[in-house]
Amino acid sequence: VEAVFRSNLSHLLDLMGSGKESLIFMKKRTKRLTAQWALAAQRLAQKLGATQRDQKQILVHIGFLTEESGDVFSPRVLKGGPLGEMVQWADILTALYVLGHGLRVTVSLKELQSNLGVPPGRGSCPLTMPLPFDLIYTDYHGLQQMKRHMGLSFKKYRCRIRVIDTFGTEPAYNHEEYATLHGYRTNWGYWNLNPKQFMTMFPHTPDNSFMGFVSEELNETEKRLIKGGKASNMAVVYGKEASIWKGKEKFLGILNKYMEIHGTVYYESQRPPEVPAFVKNHGLLPQPEFQQLLRKAKLFIGFGFPYEGPAPLEAIANGCIFLQSRFSPPHSSLNHEFFRGKPTSREVFSQHPYAENFIGKPHVWTVDYNNSEEFEAAIKAIMRTQVDPYLPYEYTCEGMLERIHAYIQHQDFCRAPDPALPEAHAPQSPFVLAPNATHLEWARNTSLAPGAWPPAHALRAWLAVPGRACTDTCLDHGLICEPSFFPFLNSQDAFLKLQVPCDSTESEMNHLYPAFAQPGQECYLQKEPLLFSCAGSNTKYRRLCPCRDFRKGQVALCQGCL
Ligand code: UDP
Repeated sequence: VEAVFRSNLSHLLDLMGSGKESLIFMKKRTKRLTAQWALAAQRLAQKLGATQRDQKQILVHIGFLTEESGDVFSPRVLKGGPLGEMVQWADILTALYVLGHGLRVTVSLKELQSNLGVPPGRGSCPLTMPLPFDLIYTDYHGLQQMKRHMGLSFKKYRCRIRVIDTFGTEPAYNHEEYATLHGYRTNWGYWNLNPKQFMTMFPHTPDNSFMGFVSEELNETEKRLIKGGKASNMAVVYGKEASIWKGKEKFLGILNKYMEIHGTVYYESQRPPEVPAFVKNHGLLPQPEFQQLLRKAKLFIGFGFPYEGPAPLEAIANGCIFLQSRFSPPHSSLNHEFFRGKPTSREVFSQHPYAENFIGKPHVWTVDYNNSEEFEAAIKAIMRTQVDPYLPYEYTCEGMLERIHAYIQHQDFCRAPDPALPEAHAPQSPFVLAPNATHLEWARNTSLAPGAWPPAHALRAWLAVPGRACTDTCLDHGLICEPSFFPFLNSQDAFLKLQVPCDSTESEMNHLYPAFAQPGQECYLQKEPLLFSCAGSNTKYRRLCPCRDFRKGQVALCQGCL
């Protein structure tokens, strides 16, 4: 059946259920953005032309909202608790629905069981039963519930699952045996899924799929009006919880010399003691009113927490400049409580690395807050800087629809490895050394690997310098790491063609392989396909890295990926 774009969202609002504060928040958001989604669908339909789109039957099970997992979020929606997840789930549901797929939404174990056909009351069903869904979107809580209640069919159908995973899961943490042997065990990891089945809030590592969310868009008239109506001395502080203001008196004092400071900190009856009296605190605002506040403000300022949420993108989209602190040394699961136990070693160099690296100046200023002069100079410079509202394409409704469309039509983790793909140890790899001898390219006269997505001809392979991860190595060349290309590269021939002087070649389990170890001149191939990883580095190794191009403003997709 062909999927048909939908623009009337009233049935979706019914599907989303009711009762919980979190669901009310999500439905309000979806309703408010209806016109924006409809316009985006129209544009994407035009762009895709006659492209065939199959309608999928999709179950969305939001595990963290189930009572069985404690549902700690719903009661905090009106009290300054995290809203980023709710924003993202609302947008995922809307995107799937607008794309025209068959949708079921569950937020309790009972509903999950009845949709999976598990008789209620039975712990789990020992038999494999046919699964009425092509795809299941869930989170780590939901994954655990499915494992417990789906019996044998969990194993059979796990390839249809997509896990919404805000901060991402790196391959080393995902592979159970490897994680256990090498100290990568956490509360969350070791599911042995294809790492691309994990879908993140920001494009952290290309080992996972980038899901994202949307921000409200402005038309040209609105942009003009906003630019004209900005109060050049108005600042809004990032953070709904009073605790983020603790110990920030010094910065607030400096900022207060130049600007009127606004906050949206939740409070019960009295001003929270952490928020100084010179701050105009509005209390937690409904989302549309928060947007209105951002439209008037010049500066949106972060004090280091929360990490990587939606609000800075909304601020920049509404014409604010985002000022944030640089982290030196970087924060990670090794040194920071918040990231501890998360299945990633990623180092976070500022409060919002996406804003820093993908947007940057003039919209984003990342400075060392330990240096008061640098901080004060930034504020003065920002007040003199004019910016236009800006929203990266991948965070528009059209961009999100385009990305999810591509994933749904092309990502298939159930398919057995294609016999047409070159074997890991095939004597010949389908590459040639590029004319300038710096990297490998797909050989023109080689037939393309059929069914490979992204298409194999997008591949460019580089040997990293010692200690550099593939994520960074590809970025160094204006490209992005593409883990699905690793199997093509994992051969002695690839090293040979790159003129790497291997004394010997061995095949082992290591998330940094394929790589060239320098003392000893040894070349290593990857033995376990689940461990192919863009992330990760060690000064001992020069990693062999598969890179590809990407669309401007849509890093998840290569030029030929649609
Ligand atoms: N937000 C809101 N009212 C406020 C402040 C923020 O509704 O007073 C919304 C904001 O529009 C954003 C969401 O809260 O979409 C999440 O923001 P944040 O970046 O703080 O992420 P979180 O830490 O909540 O996940």
